[in-house]
Amino acid sequence: MKREKGQLIVLSGPSGVGKSTVIAELLGQRDNIYFSVSYTTRQPRVGEQDGVNYNFVDRAEFERMISAGELLEYAEYVDNYYGTSLKAIQDRLDAGTDVLLDIEVQGAAKVRERCPGALFIFIIPPSFEELSRRLHRRNTDSEDVIAGRLEKARVEFHEIPHYDYLVINDKVSGAVGEIEAILTASQCRVENRKSILTQFA
Ligand code: 5GP
Repeated sequence: MKREKGQLIVLSGPSGVGKSTVIAELLGQRDNIYFSVSYTTRQPRVGEQDGVNYNFVDRAEFERMISAGELLEYAEYVDNYYGTSLKAIQDRLDAGTDVLLDIEVQGAAKVRERCPGALFIFIIPPSFEELSRRLHRRNTDSEDVIAGRLEKARVEFHEIPHYDYLVINDKVSGAVGEIEAILTASQCRVENRKSILTQFA
């Protein structure tokens, strides 16, 4: 059943929790869902591709996008800008496609204000020690950057009560299964099935 409007899904969680892996798996399993590729001023990590993982831009271009009102939301995170293009997601939602945003908590708070129908999911590791292990294992950031990311994670965890769902990424398949269940339940909400109801009126 095609819906009139897509569901906007916000996924937040600390850097290193494994969101990218979970998202890649989810996108492979689910139809009619688009991952919003964010804009960022941070440098690409090894293996990251421009236009796939992020749109990598410099600060001047990012600040131009802010001034031009092209971003649904943006935030500064560990000295870099990250933001979501408004147009890219609006067109998809209007076409009935679900849109998934992988954004941190300040950006999520802005989406909460601007898009009341959005679904908010927070993803955590099984423990704080495991988060530290995963960040070290990734082997891409210096000790200082890792320390900054762990500190940031502690602050972000305070925002969890503002989210609708909490997913634990112990095993990727388990986390993906939980998100699938959330999305299916959301689709079954009466307010999201209004179009089918008209024939029973
Ligand atoms: P990373 O540098 O590890 O790829 O991402 C750092 C943080 O930025 C992550 O928590 C990620 O969710 C967040 N992030 C990525 N894209 C966006 C965005 O467009 N807006 C906001 N507010 N945060 C983002």
